[in-house]
Amino acid sequence: MARTAERADLTPVIGLEVHVQLETDTKVFCGCSTDPADDEAPNTRVCPVCLGLPGALPVLNEAAVEAAVKVGKALDADIPEETRFHRKNYYYPDLPKNFQITQYDAPLCADGTLEFSHEGERREVRVRRAHLEEDPGSLRHVREGTQDLDVRTTSVDRADYSLVDYNRAGTPLMEVVTEPDFRDPSEVRAFLEKLEEVLEYLGVFDAARDGSLRIDANLSMVDAAEFDADGGVSDDVLAEANRTEVKNISSHRGAEDALSYERSRQENLIERGKAVAQETRHFNETHGNTVSMRSKETEEDYRYFREADLPPLQVSDWKERIAIPELPDARRERFREEYGLDAESASKLTSRKAVADFYEEVAEAFDPDLAATWVADNLLGELNYRDVPIEDVTDRLDEFTRLVELVAADEVTTKNAEETVLRTMLDEGVGPDEVIEREGLGKADDDAVADAVREAIEENPDAVKDYHAGEGGALNFLVGQVMAKTGGSADPGTVNERLRAELDG
Ligand code: ADP
Ligand code: ZN
Ligand code: MG
Repeated sequence: MARTAERADLTPVIGLEVHVQLETDTKVFCGCSTDPADDEAPNTRVCPVCLGLPGALPVLNEAAVEAAVKVGKALDADIPEETRFHRKNYYYPDLPKNFQITQYDAPLCADGTLEFSHEGERREVRVRRAHLEEDPGSLRHVREGTQDLDVRTTSVDRADYSLVDYNRAGTPLMEVVTEPDFRDPSEVRAFLEKLEEVLEYLGVFDAARDGSLRIDANLSMVDAAEFDADGGVSDDVLAEANRTEVKNISSHRGAEDALSYERSRQENLIERGKAVAQETRHFNETHGNTVSMRSKETEEDYRYFREADLPPLQVSDWKERIAIPELPDARRERFREEYGLDAESASKLTSRKAVADFYEEVAEAFDPDLAATWVADNLLGELNYRDVPIEDVTDRLDEFTRLVELVAADEVTTKNAEETVLRTMLDEGVGPDEVIEREGLGKADDDAVADAVREAIEENPDAVKDYHAGEGGALNFLVGQVMAKTGGSADPGTVNERLRAELDG
């Protein structure tokens, strides 16, 4: 009987460690560039410091600290009087010094929060700490063979040997550690989306850069009875729950998938009366599963000690000195109030800073509603379809504004502007006036429409008869004739009205 103990009512408890690559020109402790050239050869952006050569001394990059302070302010975190660096000791071939410079007992940011919306509700997750550290280099595992290296690249267990590249070593990272406040993998995805939004607004992050966001996700299954009234869990329960840490996650979607897999896996184990091993697991993006890597290391394993080559940094006044821009939530609210946008348009227009900036430029020239339709629906729709980022067209703001101006002034029909002018502008890189001229899309003037209406009526006596006999299709037919005569440049609504007036009058 005891074997079939009742099914436990289990809820996932999830906490994240997110590694964010900060956008700076140079590495965090040396002057090497952080910007990989397209044809970059391995081990070309390196120097004695990031190669860990004996005697080389780190020099802290102020821009990296500034970027980290901005993140701290955006997360509403505490920034201490003094921050310090530590050495985290371990051996791995991508880490030439055999230690990583990171922060330990005095991180740059502590006790922050990030609000996001999830399934229509506001959620808030606490950020325990966010600290600055250096990225290691990267390894490439290869098999013997004669073909090109890309083809021979493989996973570590199938490799004959590995190559190491220190170009990435020393790139500034910020590790954002949350409290275990998530209760569902889908919340994690919403959180990461919001985090990226904020980082992008701050101008410290490039989502398009390969590996710019790397996530370690911790998950344990906790019995519903252990939660307190407002959904919290005590430190004792957290410490007692066997959790796994999934590494190697590089996308929002991957985080959700890895955690969903991990939830089911742990649930199955527990229901079969087996223990969940406290371990580090690897996410296989292709298979959507997680596999055991090693038993979880503990803090003691790393023998953290003070980085004596970097003096403590006094940062108390940096928080005042460094300004951050209006953040997405505030901007969304302002767009609703200032421009009277609905929630959906305001969201769409503020999720990327470049889009919001673009919208405001257009809105200033015209009525905000028309600008919202044109930027949020038409322009973003066409850009998505072409997989082109807004940044690629921000220098064409004038042309785009001109197009909206032409629509507003009734110089071109909305349909032609959307379906031909905008598309041609994007495909061929030409301005709206040129497209309209070339394609003969200038809106037919009143006289031309009146002439076409008269002609259509004269040439189609049967349709006129059908119209008077009450046949609905006849009017549409006549509208079509007028549109054809004006080369599609008349406004269908106007044509409709004119025809009726003429036929009924
Ligand atoms: P460690 O010492 O193993 O690094 P930390 O206490 O520093 O553990 O927490 C690391 C991450 O694990 C944090 O994101 C935290 O929210 C999360 N975490 C802690 N306890 C649990 C738990 N029981 N279940 C899921 N995640 C947890
Ligand atoms: Zn260097
Ligand atoms: Mg930790």
